[in-house]
Amino acid sequence: MNTCGFIDAAVEESVQAIGEALAENGKVIVTGCLGARTGAGGESWVRGIHPAVLAVTGPDATDQVLDAVHTHLARPHEPFFDLLPPAGVKLTPRHYAYLKIAEGCNQSCSFCVIPSMRGKLVSRPIGEVVREAERLVQQGVRELLIVSQDTGAYGVDVRGRTDFVNGRPVRTGIQDLATELGRLGVWVRLHYIYPYPHIAQLTDLMAQGIILPYLDVPFQHAHPRVLRLMRRPASAERNMDRIAAWRAVCPGLSIRSTFIAGFPGETESEFEYLIEFLKQAQLDRVGCFAYSPVQGAAANDLPEPIPEPVREARRARLMQVQAEISRCRLAARVGTVQRVLIDQALPGGGIGRTGCEAPEIDGVVRVSATGPLQIGAFYDVRIVDSDEHDLSAVMVKSRSGSQLAESASTGSDPVHGGAR
Ligand code: SF4
Repeated sequence: MNTCGFIDAAVEESVQAIGEALAENGKVIVTGCLGARTGAGGESWVRGIHPAVLAVTGPDATDQVLDAVHTHLARPHEPFFDLLPPAGVKLTPRHYAYLKIAEGCNQSCSFCVIPSMRGKLVSRPIGEVVREAERLVQQGVRELLIVSQDTGAYGVDVRGRTDFVNGRPVRTGIQDLATELGRLGVWVRLHYIYPYPHIAQLTDLMAQGIILPYLDVPFQHAHPRVLRLMRRPASAERNMDRIAAWRAVCPGLSIRSTFIAGFPGETESEFEYLIEFLKQAQLDRVGCFAYSPVQGAAANDLPEPIPEPVREARRARLMQVQAEISRCRLAARVGTVQRVLIDQALPGGGIGRTGCEAPEIDGVVRVSATGPLQIGAFYDVRIVDSDEHDLSAVMVKSRSGSQLAESASTGSDPVHGGAR
């Protein structure tokens, strides 16, 4: 059972899921952030609640988890598992994969305990990351989802140290990494980018079609005082200017963000400021959480906590405002021809995503065709309808992976394909 200790709601869900798994078969190994939490005497916090679990580890403890599995479940001779591919076993569908480029975080946001659980930023060597990406692409991955706690800070801990990619010296940094991954001819999507000034260089790569024009930027709030209380990285005052500058460089940019409503001390007028920011920013996709205290977070000590019903009402209001914005932004795409990657085949077409939609967190494109579409294949589709979250489309033509690589290398837009 992989667990999350990010907010108290996630802790509760993890604890409940462990209980359900124990009730199901009684054999549970716990790993992830919550596994690292200890009680006052240094004992496992999870074990204190569920003494029957077989083993508990912290995050990134693959070897310890496998040791625990082999201790409790003798490993039979199995020709398939004995011939594991070099990239290991992936839990995502064959055509997309998460690529973790760093662990830990150098920030100290007041609502977050991840740095205390996962430590300071440690970037993987760029050569190692690119080699893993190449292996994934060779195995059929068509979309790489780049993740870490603070993706824009990749390489800062090693001061951009030079490493080697296929014999070439390359600096360890997010722009160099994005450029190298862009050479692989697949979709490259960046998650968890903070609005640091150097992000502008990434939008250049997006405009050139080297990586997807998609920015997942967790702004969390817009009001400068609340952002200071949150101790968020990058100065917030210029965020609206930054968004305008990113869009000027890359007009097709899709921006996703998350926000916290009802942070301790947030006044009604500061919340209104956030609503005004949303109306002006016209972000494409937004998630919002009502503030939830996390055990051990500095924000718990802030004065003037907001009552839970007010936090929830503000969250609902924010999502209502954003729903209308998202509806309008999706409606503006009706009539365009866009490229989709198919995630699911249906008798009369399939369900896919354009470069503007990340799997599992954004909406989808429902494509009508004469028969089932191929999972993991690219198709050009014409958008014919939209709602608050999703798009509907009809097939125009299919495109292979090599055609995608060609359009990326020639600098044409690999995402939006044709025009209205
Ligand atoms: S940037 Fe802030 S919210 Fe994100 S992991 Fe680091 S401390 Fe937590």
